[in-house]
Amino acid sequence: MENKSKNGVRFVYVDGDYCFPEDAKISIFDRGFLMADAIYEVIPVINKKLIDFNAHDERFTRSCRELGITKPLTKDQFLTINRKLISLNKLKEGIIYTQITRGKAERDFLFPKKTHPTVVSFTQSKSITNTAPIFKGLHIKTMADLRWGRCDIKTTQLLAASIAKTKAHELGYDDVWMIKDNFITEGSSSNAHIITQNNVIVTCNESTNILSGITRDSILKYATVHGYKIEERQFSLEEAFRSKECFSSSSSTFVMPVISINGQRIGDGKPGIHTQFLLELCIKEGKKRSI
Ligand code: PMP
Repeated sequence: MENKSKNGVRFVYVDGDYCFPEDAKISIFDRGFLMADAIYEVIPVINKKLIDFNAHDERFTRSCRELGITKPLTKDQFLTINRKLISLNKLKEGIIYTQITRGKAERDFLFPKKTHPTVVSFTQSKSITNTAPIFKGLHIKTMADLRWGRCDIKTTQLLAASIAKTKAHELGYDDVWMIKDNFITEGSSSNAHIITQNNVIVTCNESTNILSGITRDSILKYATVHGYKIEERQFSLEEAFRSKECFSSSSSTFVMPVISINGQRIGDGKPGIHTQFLLELCIKEGKKRSI
């Protein structure tokens, strides 16, 4: 639990208050705790600035709407919390995690009629633009996608993905790509992409099977401007094996080269030049639009 700022303190946000983690209190009746009745966002921070804040706020709004939670924060309030935590924790690079739960109520499977949603937020200071896996590449294991049917909503129901990633680690891999009905859906906490021998970027189409990643969206947008052809469609493990390059994307890692899947080398087994280009592009464009 050590992620203190340089001056040795760490502030978190809980329902209107900025406090130390040890003073933060959430009810044991909170439905986020009892039922994973909660949604979250992770926003990258580079040079003390937020990357793609608007897109994250829009997805937050959508997640609330899909679950019938009244979003308790306006966009401006959300921005203020983020900026205050960056300042209090002297966060230069890392992420801000924010979670909204339906709030506390007597335990019941029926949604309570009226609750006051809970909001918690904290920062994690870490390097996200200059990490070893960016240079070395990831070894991926595929596993059956055992998650629920609404992976398009960013809920805190992360146990299936967490078990899968842990199993992959135990087997000596870095991460997992999940397979449903013979097609790769996404990573444990990232979107999955391949680049074909003809330099076409292929990534699973938006559906209830995947989270529509903000980074995925940015990559597709920026890559199109740079002349890449994009195909948003399902792809199989066999197609990934035949591809020139593979990579994962997420807000906390941007673009991560995948150099092997199930022990089989992808391309020449090194991070590819297109993946490297997309990583640099994503960081450069993200920084330009940071606020
Ligand atoms: N899919 C899943 C399941 C994820 O958890 C994440 C990261 N939260 C992503 C994709 C990538 O989304 P984003 O680029 O918005 O971080």
